[in-house]
Amino acid sequence: MSLRLGKIRMKAPRGEHYDVAIIGGGPAGLSAAIYAGRFLLKTIVLAEEVGGQLNLTDWIDDYPGFRRVRASQLVRNFKMHAEMFNAEIVEMVRVERFYRTESGEYRILGTRGLDIYAKTIIMAVGSKRRKLGVPGEREFANKGVSYCSVCDAPLFDGKDAVAVVGGGDAAFEGAILLSGYVKKVYLIHRRDQFRAKPFFVEEAKSRPNIEFVLNSVVDEIKGDTSVRSVVVRNKITGEKREIPVDGIFIEIGFEPPKEWFQSLGLETDATGYIKVDEWMRTNLPGVFAAGDCTTMWLGFRQVITAAAMGAVAAYSAYDYLAEKGLYKPYKPDGK
Ligand code: NAP
Repeated sequence: MSLRLGKIRMKAPRGEHYDVAIIGGGPAGLSAAIYAGRFLLKTIVLAEEVGGQLNLTDWIDDYPGFRRVRASQLVRNFKMHAEMFNAEIVEMVRVERFYRTESGEYRILGTRGLDIYAKTIIMAVGSKRRKLGVPGEREFANKGVSYCSVCDAPLFDGKDAVAVVGGGDAAFEGAILLSGYVKKVYLIHRRDQFRAKPFFVEEAKSRPNIEFVLNSVVDEIKGDTSVRSVVVRNKITGEKREIPVDGIFIEIGFEPPKEWFQSLGLETDATGYIKVDEWMRTNLPGVFAAGDCTTMWLGFRQVITAAAMGAVAAYSAYDYLAEKGLYKPYKPDGK
């Protein structure tokens, strides 16, 4: 038996058996948990952080049924919904490895003593923040270098200037948010075309204190006790410019933990995304994957696409168990 401290368990479960273990607590994982619960599967969600990338966003205005909702509220709704269908959610636990036992079940091991068995697994671990890899980035981490505008923007309230790097939704959302706190925002992007939604681009262009620095890359981040400037190079002219800033927000997307996936025996593409078919099946029997860690719909990562993948993965886990004669409805309250 593991002890519970409020909602957070002090110890992760040990020796327990599940129909499905969902690794990851973002929209894909929690949606998988809702559907797995609906299929009456004994379900556990193992999450380092419930919410995943939703925790890095402020408002969501493109999830059906919600004209405009705080991302944190959507996370709470997803979690509550999954728990309503009897999913057990273990937070602040990191899965380190799993392997298939002779009985055909997977043994899953991780931090805080996690050691459980599951007939199926759904990988929904998302991906890691990409780094620029330039001098000063590591040195000034948390001293002006941030990877999350939504989390850290208020810390820069009243400052003179910040830089935001990237041309996707996160960079634009960050620049728009920061323009309300900081006198000047430089949006530095390596091209002059943007991945960000036109809505964000139009909004950023309408803000007089956002300056676009295009076709440009950051060569160095400089400072003393904290960030003081960034050295930017125009890729076309080669011209260098040192821009005084109090901080830099690196919002250049995510990349999957390729080596970890491969060490688990999961087949990935060259970048490291887990290869899945249209039913979210991986190369491992009984292991499915959903959300940003997969090859599915690369280039269009949304809450709704992650949630859709989670639903399909849960259906496939159920279908796999039914086909193998391993399905037994789980009714914890004896109904
Ligand atoms: P993204 O869409 O992958 O965009 C990353 C941006 O960073 C691209 O513009 C890319 O440039 C640039 N970049 C990548 N590597 C770089 C490098 N080494 N140096 C300089 N620039 C680099 O990532 P994201 O903006 O974090 O968004 C991730 C997903 O979350 C997307 O699906 C997005 O729609 C979603 N999201 C949605 C919202 C919202 O709707 N509220 C908010 C945030 C994120 P290139 O364009 O040249 O490749």
